[in-house]
Amino acid sequence: MLDNDFTPGDAAHHFGERRYNAWNEHVKRRYGARVQKVSVEAGFTCPNRDGRVASGGCTFCNNDGFTPLYLERRQSVTQQIDAGLEFLQRRYPGTDRFIAYFQSYSNTYGELERLRALYQEALAHPQISGLAIGTRPDCLAQPVLQYLAELSSEHIIELEIGVESCNDAVLASVNRGHDFAASVDAIERAAALGLDVTAHMLLGLPGESRDSMLDGARKLSALPIRALKLHQLQLVRGTALARQWQSDPASVPLFGEQECIGLLCDFIERLAPRILLQRVGSEVPPSMKLAPAWNVRLSELAPRISAELARRGSWQGSRYEA
Ligand code: SF4
Repeated sequence: MLDNDFTPGDAAHHFGERRYNAWNEHVKRRYGARVQKVSVEAGFTCPNRDGRVASGGCTFCNNDGFTPLYLERRQSVTQQIDAGLEFLQRRYPGTDRFIAYFQSYSNTYGELERLRALYQEALAHPQISGLAIGTRPDCLAQPVLQYLAELSSEHIIELEIGVESCNDAVLASVNRGHDFAASVDAIERAAALGLDVTAHMLLGLPGESRDSMLDGARKLSALPIRALKLHQLQLVRGTALARQWQSDPASVPLFGEQECIGLLCDFIERLAPRILLQRVGSEVPPSMKLAPAWNVRLSELAPRISAELARRGSWQGSRYEA
């Protein structure tokens, strides 16, 4: 059975104890093994930082907090992959399938020839089976999408698009520099070319209400996305949002621990069961995190969500309305 084939009625049985459509399970079924991402820092910037769209960047953004320690920006793509493989093979012995993850900033922001050279260098590595490419929706010109679609006929290509919120007022308030319509447009154009799209969402941005976030589950479910990464808002030191919270905490309400798990479950219950959940939360390194004070390790968050869904007798899509 394909992961996208089941109806909401099949979902509870299909998801098992996890109670949601877990990306890792899908990957193991599809490739017969774990597929690990090797991060690559290719020297991209972002139009929301370099002045083309804006210069301050999104108020929550600090890419340094999420760059693996094994990365050295001065190294070539091949050197970075070699360093990453050495680290990951020690950490996850037995993994033999890897994809290069162009993660930081906007990894389709550049001339097509430059993108080609970088992506081809990664794909030429003998241990790399594909690419995961993170970007903004307004950095996906049609020729770039067409090129990625060509690559996807021979390689795993996962296009990760930062949606962050489905609420235009919220997007404006965090200086995102694009609206939700831009995400819809990019996702629909990519999917029309057969690309697998993962949407990246940040729950809890200032100005978001419980209802607007849950409405986001409905809006995302209507889009041709393959997978979703859910992150809960945490304030990273050095960001404009962290400074805003320090000067006016009431303007940046933060989730309590139980509230966060409850909201993630509410969201997952309203999400179409065909959408694979690649992440159900995030963890900021303690040295980079300013708030909230509570911390649940990522490895604990997923079982906590499954336990809460089990307690409710619900699962991904149990409250989904097509
Ligand atoms: S979050 Fe992404 S789009 Fe926003 S400023 Fe940072 S790199 Fe740019």
